[in-house]
Amino acid sequence: MLDKYKQKRNFKSTPEPAGDLKLAAERAKNAQPGKGLFFCVQKHLASHLHYDFRLEHNGVLLSWAVPKGPSLDPKTKRLAMHVEDHPIEYGTFEGVIPEGYGAGIVMLWDQGTWVPESPDIDAALKKGDLKFTLDGYKLKGSWVLVRTGGRWGSSSGSGAARSWLLIKHRDDWAGELDITEFAPRSVKSDGDFEDILAADKPDVWISNKPAPARGGEAGAMLARIIERAAALKAGDAPAAGARGRKAAPRSGARAAAGKPPPSAADRAGSGERAPRPRGKKTTRETSPDRRKREPPKRKTSAKRR
Ligand code: MN
Repeated sequence: MLDKYKQKRNFKSTPEPAGDLKLAAERAKNAQPGKGLFFCVQKHLASHLHYDFRLEHNGVLLSWAVPKGPSLDPKTKRLAMHVEDHPIEYGTFEGVIPEGYGAGIVMLWDQGTWVPESPDIDAALKKGDLKFTLDGYKLKGSWVLVRTGGRWGSSSGSGAARSWLLIKHRDDWAGELDITEFAPRSVKSDGDFEDILAADKPDVWISNKPAPARGGEAGAMLARIIERAAALKAGDAPAAGARGRKAAPRSGARAAAGKPPPSAADRAGSGERAPRPRGKKTTRETSPDRRKREPPKRKTSAKRR
């Protein structure tokens, strides 16, 4: 299940989790899909910026790389490339992959629980039509992953065979708000890429600039991030506004200390099942972070237009 994941990585040089097969078996045994399985989205600046969309199933994380990230607009279908299963422990990982496969910066962009809308997940995957409900900080409501080519489980690595579309269904959580622009930061550390790099060990990259040689948009973005991370580390970072922030200001002390906000900490953890919120109302009241990030419901955004 995790063979491909392990083949691609050297665990002596990557901070990524190696994948505990006993833990995977345990998770699979205790899973109650009707009550919610873990899901997450990791924003990953590697050779290209993309969003890794991951759903827990059979003790591992089924994974799709979504180049443009999820869209709340049902009219906007987002390409999602099916990639290798990841260990469940990967779901809360955030940090810097200094070299090798996936070298770059990983941010935990969203996490929560998912519930399949039909009980047989394997049948839905085989059919290439997986409908589900998300309860994350940023992504909520009903969604579908639709395969556009190939067969499930075919090991062929060709692009077409791995292509799916991630589509939001029309409900109260759909809207025209660009969620990747509106809520660009980590739900774990509240940081941006440069904060994550500064909190990690950016020295190698700062002195070698940049270790993973690359050009294009991602390369330019990485160069900017390295520069800002170096400034943050030196303690002479420009004010948040000058750094081009669009979202609400971060809680500086917390981010600097590398501590997750309490709302995220409650749900994060080393591979533990994320507790289910007791209901929308309670969650909203107890989590100021979530309130900030919460997209307006469709009715509201319709009014704004
Ligand atoms: Mn990735």
